[in-house]
Parts: sequence; C-alpha cells; structure tokens
Amino acid sequence: MAGAVSRALACWTLVAGSLFGQSFYLSNDAVPRKETVQLTIDPARETFEGTVSIDVELKTAASIIWLNAKNLTVGSAAIAQGNTSHPARVIPGSDERIGIDARIDGRQTLAGPVTIRIAYQGRLDEKSLVGPYRRKVEGEWYAYTTFTPIDARRAFPCFDEPRFKAPWDISIRVKREHKAFSNGREISETEEPNGWKLVTFATTEPLPAELVAFAVGPFDVYDGGEAGHGTPVRVITAKGHAAEGHAAAQATAAILRPLEAYTGIPYAFGKLDHLALPEGAFGAVENPGLITYRVRNLLMPPNQEAAARTRALRALQAHEIGHQWFGNLVTQATWDDVWLSEGFATWISAKMMDQEQPPERAHLAAIAARERIMAVDSPARARPVRVAVNSRVTARDVYNRVVYDKGAAILLMLEGWLGEDSFRDGLRGYLNEHRFGNAATDDLAAALRAASGTDPARVLNNFLNTTGVPELRGQLLCDRDAAPRLRVTKSSPGSVPVCWRADRVASSCTVLEGPSTEIALPTGTACPAWFYLNSGGTGYYRTRWTQAPMQALSELSGAERLTLVYDLRAGKNASAQAALARLASDADPEISTAARDALR
Ligand SMILES: [Zn+2]
Repeated sequence: MAGAVSRALACWTLVAGSLFGQSFYLSNDAVPRKETVQLTIDPARETFEGTVSIDVELKTAASIIWLNAKNLTVGSAAIAQGNTSHPARVIPGSDERIGIDARIDGRQTLAGPVTIRIAYQGRLDEKSLVGPYRRKVEGEWYAYTTFTPIDARRAFPCFDEPRFKAPWDISIRVKREHKAFSNGREISETEEPNGWKLVTFATTEPLPAELVAFAVGPFDVYDGGEAGHGTPVRVITAKGHAAEGHAAAQATAAILRPLEAYTGIPYAFGKLDHLALPEGAFGAVENPGLITYRVRNLLMPPNQEAAARTRALRALQAHEIGHQWFGNLVTQATWDDVWLSEGFATWISAKMMDQEQPPERAHLAAIAARERIMAVDSPARARPVRVAVNSRVTARDVYNRVVYDKGAAILLMLEGWLGEDSFRDGLRGYLNEHRFGNAATDDLAAALRAASGTDPARVLNNFLNTTGVPELRGQLLCDRDAAPRLRVTKSSPGSVPVCWRADRVASSCTVLEGPSTEIALPTGTACPAWFYLNSGGTGYYRTRWTQAPMQALSELSGAERLTLVYDLRAGKNASAQAALARLASDADPEISTAARDALR
C-alpha cells in the first residue's frame, strides 16, 4: 500500500501548479450521489482498512476529481463508467484532499455518472477526539467517531461539505465478540473466517459526510423500547454500564413526541441510539440515528436520577433530537449558515423545556440565556452569527457560542414578532420544502414570509450579519389637540422589529427602519398611564428607560418583567433603583434573584 503512495507522489510536479490557490471548497462540477463504505476495524489496532465506492455525477467533463481525504494512505483507486472500470492515478492535493485522475489512457475525459473506488488505510487515533479514534475503557478498546464539521475525511475519502448530501451504505467488519453501530439500523450480520463478522447497516437517508458516525467495541445496550411515532430507542454504553442508560431512554420518551407534534413531521431516521463517549470534542453530536454524548452527559446510575439531572438530560436531548429536523432533515448548505442548525436546536430545546413549566414562566430561561450573549455582543468582543468559513482554522470557529445563543435569541424574536402560529407554520413549510436537502437563510425567510405575510429578510440579515445590541427609547406624546402617539428612537442602523403595548392598548408590532418613528395609538385612546417597548420580552434589543414604568409592573408577564430587570440594570438611574427594589420581591424566584443581583 505504501508503494501506491510513492507512485502518486511522483505526479506531484505535474499538478503542483494547479494546487496553489486551491480553494477550501470542492468544485460544483462533481456531485456525489451515493457513498458505499466498507471498513475493517479492530479497536485494539491503531490502523483500519477501508474501501469506498462513490457514485458521482460529473456535470462537466473532468480530468481530475477532487475529494476530501486526510491522513489516509491510499492503496489503489479505480474509476468506472457503465461496465468499464479503469485503474486511476491518485493525485496528492493539499493535506485536506486527493485527486482522482479521471482521464482514460491519460487522454479521454469523462462526464456524466461515474463510480470512484478507493482502497485505503486510516488511523484510529489514541489522543485525538476528532475523526475516527479509539480509547481504552476499563481495560477494553473501543472505536468512536466525531466528524463535525470537517473530519469525516479522516475516516474515508468523501465530499466533506454539508451541501453534498447522499445516501450512505455502510458495513463494518469486526471481531465476532464486538458490536458495531452506525446511523442506519443493522440489517445483517455475516460470519467471516478467522473470528471476524461483517455487520451491514440499512442505507441511510441523504446525509452530509459530517453526520455519518460509527462505533465498534464490546458495548452493552440498554433497550429503551419505542418513543414518539414508534421509533426504537437504545442507549449504548461501555461494557457493564447498560443500567445507567435508563434515564436517557426516559428522556427520549418525554421529548420525541412533542418535537414530532411541533414540527408536524415524524422522526425521519428509523432508529434512535444514544452512544456514550468516554471523552468528546463536544458535549454531544447529533448524528442521525446515532447521537453521541460525553459519558457524564448521558449516563447516570439509577440511584442518582435526581430531578435536576434528569431535567438537564431532557434539555440536552431536546437540543440533539431537535437537530434531527433542524440540521439533519434540512441541512445548511454552507457552514456560514450553521445557525440554521445550532440556533434552531438551542431555541427549540428552550421551547420544549418551557412546555414542562407553568405558562407564566414561559421564555424565562431563554431570556436569561439571551442576556448572557447580549453582555458580549459588541464588535470588540463577538463575531456576527454568520461569518464565512474558508479554511481549517476558520472552521474551528463554526460552533462559536454566538451561533447558538444569538441564533436562538433571534428565533425567539421572530416568533414573538410574526406570532407563534405563523412562525410554526413557516417552519413546517421550510422543513417540508427542503426535506432531506439543504437550505440557506434566504429559504427560511421565504418560508416565514409565505406563512406570515411579513418578509423577515431585512431583519434577519441585520441581526445575523452584524454585532451589537440595538438600544431603544420610547416617549409618549400626548398633546392636547392631537391623538396620543408613541415615539420610538433607536441607536443603530438596520431593521428592528419592535412589539409594544401600553395601558389599555393591546400589543402590536412595527419594524423600525430609521432612527426615529412615531406610532399613532388607536383612535379614541386616552393618554396611557404607561407603555412597554418589548411586549412578550422576545425582542433582541435593550430599552433605555428615563423613567422606569412603575405602574406597569403588576400588568407585565414574567418574560416582560425579567427583560425589564435586565434593561434597568443596564441603564441604572434613580427610578431604575426603585423599580428594581420592587422587582426584588417578585413572586418568581428567577426574576427576584435577577433584580437583587442588579441592585448589588
Ligand atoms: Zn447542536
């Protein structure tokens, strides 16, 4: 196998010229239609063998097909069209990719459907937490994977970008005493010579490479029965720990059905396994059908299932299972739009957890999380939600906290502004239209516009592409000879949706474009005793209060009172102190604690 590599290296000078300036992204001209992977894995060994067979559509005649591969030693490659197969030279690219020479006899180029076959060897790293890796747990070796965002290429040559979604046929040859898991359910297990067996998994739905996962080792399985619309649930643990999976299975039983009810779409990936990793690069990764978690986030001995711990487990699962719709069923086309995955999973987890609470506590957790991200959301301290990814270095920042928490806060704002039902209908339209495909922020905006009649594109672009928290001020104008008006001014450019209400005036929303707007109150309204500039508490902005709205306190919802506490804390003055002193004895412990903290 090493020989093939040195042969490939001989071609280096031939292609080196085209290599410089090679983009981080693959071309649009070669699109994978199906990837078949067969691996041979013994976790006790630091290498593994693989063969891939990738059906590719060449949209234009190609002389070289580039695909991603990292730290793989290629043994042989071939390219086939119809019934004719030819050996293919492997052309070294950067350390992120290889090229397959698609010319026959060094001359004729190919177009249309072709199949690339590559046999290779890869590494099961003992120290790394990304790509395929191995760890010893209580004296036994196990193999695991973490591919997001760009490390599937360490396990198999592939088109490792989220826009390339294709079905995967995966089979793994393992020792007879081991178990193997992947995204699809196991469909067969065939005995092979010398103590091996071949485990074959069902073809997956179309998935990007980064969401493929597998695991091999002497695992134990906690059978969690069925959840939601009849999805089998299991918890996969290191040997001897199956009983610790009980709480995780219970959490899925509680969370899956409400997610299916909200999205209107049954869980789409057949089976749902939760796998415990001894260590993980992330707290959890949402691979369809095989979600992975750091062990302490997933397992707990049955005698330690305290309410706070099982609630945290449900919140984490609501995030990861939420991804099965937002990220997995519909995948962002590019990593700049990863908020369509992480912002949504964060937002929907908070929404699902709110359903366990009395209605007056709705949004309190989301507003507290929003406050934490607002505290750092300035050009000096944070990046925008959407930024371009164009290298392995910038890919490290794909999962920046801003993407999760500001992304979720923007969704909370859109839901408050467009209305809960219109927002849900828009999301259902978005999920159905792009089911098993890709989407961009513009696709979300279009679906929300279709459902609500309001175009959120300008608002979305303003909040996603810039840093900073807009500041609003309000003033009631009650002249003797004119109808009362509310004047609202804002500190920064860009579209900001503001929902407001006042004494005996129901909530309504308007989008502030310029620095100042005057809103006429409904005809016949007397000058109100108070107004409030963030009805529902869902807006991503601060209200600067010259005079705290003391008379409003008894009328405001929990979400509005908590938002008020944070706004008063940010713009301290004498009237803010008096209002905070009253809010410090609020009946809701979250609000009273926040007010007491603000007074310190
Ligand atoms: Zn996530």
